[in-house]
Amino acid sequence: MPFDYAPAPESRSIVDIESNYGLFIGGSFTEPTSGEFFKTIDPATEEVLSEVAEAGQADVDAAVAAARRAYDKTWSKMSGKDRAKYIFRIARLIQERSRELAVLETLDNGKPIRESRDVDLPLVAAHFFYHAGWADKLEFAGYGPDPKSLGVAAQVIPWNFPLLMLAWKVAPALACGNTVVLKPAETTPLTALAFADICQQAGLPPGVVNIITGAGETGRMLVEHPDVDKVAFTGSTEVGKAIQRAVAGTKKKLTLELGGKAANIVFDDAPIDQAIEGIVNGIYFNQGHVCCAGSRLLLQESIADEALASLKRRLTTLRLGDPLDKNTDIGAINSSMQLSKIEELTAAGEAEGAERWSPTCPIPDKGFWFPPTLFTNVTQAHRIAREEIFGPVLSVLTFRTPEEAVAKANNTPFGLSAGIWTEKGSRILWMANQMRAGIVWANTFNRFDPASPFGGFKESGFGREGGVQGLGAYLNVEDPS
Ligand code: NDP
Repeated sequence: MPFDYAPAPESRSIVDIESNYGLFIGGSFTEPTSGEFFKTIDPATEEVLSEVAEAGQADVDAAVAAARRAYDKTWSKMSGKDRAKYIFRIARLIQERSRELAVLETLDNGKPIRESRDVDLPLVAAHFFYHAGWADKLEFAGYGPDPKSLGVAAQVIPWNFPLLMLAWKVAPALACGNTVVLKPAETTPLTALAFADICQQAGLPPGVVNIITGAGETGRMLVEHPDVDKVAFTGSTEVGKAIQRAVAGTKKKLTLELGGKAANIVFDDAPIDQAIEGIVNGIYFNQGHVCCAGSRLLLQESIADEALASLKRRLTTLRLGDPLDKNTDIGAINSSMQLSKIEELTAAGEAEGAERWSPTCPIPDKGFWFPPTLFTNVTQAHRIAREEIFGPVLSVLTFRTPEEAVAKANNTPFGLSAGIWTEKGSRILWMANQMRAGIVWANTFNRFDPASPFGGFKESGFGREGGVQGLGAYLNVEDPS
C-alpha cells in the first residue's frame, strides 16, 4: 500500500504581486497608450493574480525606438567585457531571487514547484552565466576575428517555460551586443515582468531590454515592425509559419523554435527501470507542455508488455495537485484553451480506435487539470501519433527492428528531438545518425545545458539556441545550422 503524503506547500509569501503592471520600456514601467489591461490567472485555482498592460501599436513603436536608441548610443558601443559585467550581475540576481521567481513561475504557469525550483531556475541562471562568459570572447567563437551584432531583436516566447525561454532569448542577444524587445505569452507574463525589475536592479542601461505584454496581436506587431533586425520566436508551428511569411523579403534574421512529436525508442536490451523513468520524464514533465517531449513511445515488441506494465505501475505513483506542494509531480494545465485542445485530441484518439488508460487520480474541483494518460493500439495514422498534443498524453507504438524504429521515428512532419534506450553504444551512434531530429538523447531524456545547441529540423523550425552555434543567430554572420 502506498504511503499518504502530508501536504508540503511552499509558502507564497515570498512573492509580492502587484495588482497591475505597465509596460517595461526604456528602463521604466509605463502605462499602455491603449489604457487596456488583461488578467493573468493561477491555472491551478483560477484566482486572478494581476492585471497586465496590453501593448498596442504605439507602445510597440515606443519599445522598438527605445531599443534602437539604447543600441546606437550605449550597448553597441560598449566593450564585451563591460556587457559581460551586466549579464553576470543579472545571473547573480536571478540566483539570489530564485525562490521568489520559482514560486511566481509556479503560480502563473501551474507547473510543480519541484520543477520550477530544481529545473527552470537553475537553468535560467546557467544561461545568463554561460552567455556572460562569451560576451568578451566572441572573436574566438569561430565567426571571424570581429563578429558584429545585428541590432534590435524582437523576441516572442510561449507559456510552457516562461522565464527559461526568456533566458534562452535574452542572454545570447545581450552577450552578442544586441538590444531586445520581448513579448511573453499572454497567460504567463509575471516572471518576465519580475525580470524587468531585475534589469533595473542590475543597473542595465535603459532600453537594452524592453518587455511588452499583450496577446498574439502584440506579437504580430512586434515581429512585423520595420525597425527590427532580428526575430526569434518559440511557439506553435502555425504561428511560426505566419511569422516566416511576414519577414520574408525583409532584411530580418529569423530563428524559429516550433513544435515536436518526438519518438522515445526503447530496445529490448535497455535497463528497463531506468527507461521507465526516462519515459515518465520525457512526457509527464511539465504536464507534457514541452516542445521536445517524448510523446511517441516506441517499444521493441519483445519487451512491450513488460515495459507497459511497469510504466502503468509507475504512473499510479504520480501525484497530481497543488503545484506549490513540494510532493506534486503533475501540476495544472496552463489554460482552459490548452485543456480543451488536449481533450479534443484525446477524444479523437479514442474515436480512431486507440485505447486510453489513466491511473485513478483525484482531480481538484477548481482549475485546469488532465491526468497522466497513455494510449495503446495506436497506429501511425492516428492524430494522436501525428499532432502535437502538448499535454500529459503518451502514444505507445511498437517496432521489431532498428530500421523499423528509425522509419517510424522519422515518420513525422516535425524533427526536434528523439530518445534512444539501449545498452549498445554502436546502435546509439547508428540510430542517432539516421534520426532527422535536432537533439538525440541516449539513455536519458529532456536534459538541457546552455552549452549544448537546441533546435529542429523540418516543421520544428530552424536556427539553434544555446552553445557556440546559438551565438551565430545573434551575430551578423551566416547561420551555422
Ligand atoms: P502560439 O504559437 O500561439 O504562442 C506563442 C507566442 O506567440 C505567444 O507569446 C503568443 O502570444 C505569440 N503569438 C501568437 N500569435 C502571434 C502572431 N501572429 N505573431 C507573433 N506572435 C504571436 O502558441 P499557443 O500558446 O497558442 O499554443 C498553441 C499550440 O502551440 C500548443 O497547443 C502547442 O501545441 C504549441 N506550442 C508549442 C510550443 C513550443 O515550444 N514548441 C510552445 C507553445 C505552444 P499569446 O500568448 O498572447 O497568444
